[in-house]
Amino acid sequence: CSTMQIFSKNASTWREKILKEDEVESFRENLKNSNINPVFIHTSYLVNLASPSDELYFKSINAFIEEMKRADLLLPVPYLIIHPGAHTGAGEEYGIQRIIRALNIILEKSADLGLKTMILLEDTAGSGTHLGYTFRQLKRMMEGANDKKRMGICFDTCHAFAAGYDLSHQEGIKQTLEEFEKYIGLDKLKVIHLNDSKFPLGSRKDRHMHIGKGYIGLEGFRVLVNHEYLKGLPFILETPKYTEKDDLKNINLVKSLVSN
Ligand code: MN
Ligand code: MN
Ligand code: ZN
Repeated sequence: CSTMQIFSKNASTWREKILKEDEVESFRENLKNSNINPVFIHTSYLVNLASPSDELYFKSINAFIEEMKRADLLLPVPYLIIHPGAHTGAGEEYGIQRIIRALNIILEKSADLGLKTMILLEDTAGSGTHLGYTFRQLKRMMEGANDKKRMGICFDTCHAFAAGYDLSHQEGIKQTLEEFEKYIGLDKLKVIHLNDSKFPLGSRKDRHMHIGKGYIGLEGFRVLVNHEYLKGLPFILETPKYTEKDDLKNINLVKSLVSN
């Protein structure tokens, strides 16, 4: 592989990880001496920038800023990927406003701290009350953010498919990417999460599958990895991993689909 995604802490706890100077140094050194570039950091799953609870909301904002500090320390281009948030019953409009406000607090505070972190909003499957399952919603979040240079998009194929964007064939992919261009702009797209979907189109279920073994299917991935709009973008697998060989199998399969 020539790109990767990591967590910079345990993704399922609030506890913060303090990175030691020598850890940071050796990470950066090893990265420089590798052929892996760029690297993405995925935010902890607990962060919810749409939470109607003030306690959780500000806890999320603070945790996110800590994530940014670690990203800035570890990576030459500090990309930080986040699921926009879940409104947990307070309503979609409320949730979107809440996310925009959080992004602006975060952008301002991190600029004050001199951080250059790029925030990449990830499209979601729209399970439960998660927001960001349509390009229109993502567009509103992007437009609401005051520092647009530091905002981008991570496009997850499983999430998009589960949210109703048909990536299983050429025509569906064409329509999806054209809609992305219309609402958000392909220049905002920084990375693809390449995952098949365990559940059918529009199921709103976030369950990843091995490439070609889910409802998107091999033909969809063949079109995606060869699509001119996606040329040169990093593709990250978040496919299931039961044994050490699973990643290798998926990587080799994806590479075999690339036609030039
Ligand atoms: Mn994600
Ligand atoms: Mn993803
Ligand atoms: Zn997912």
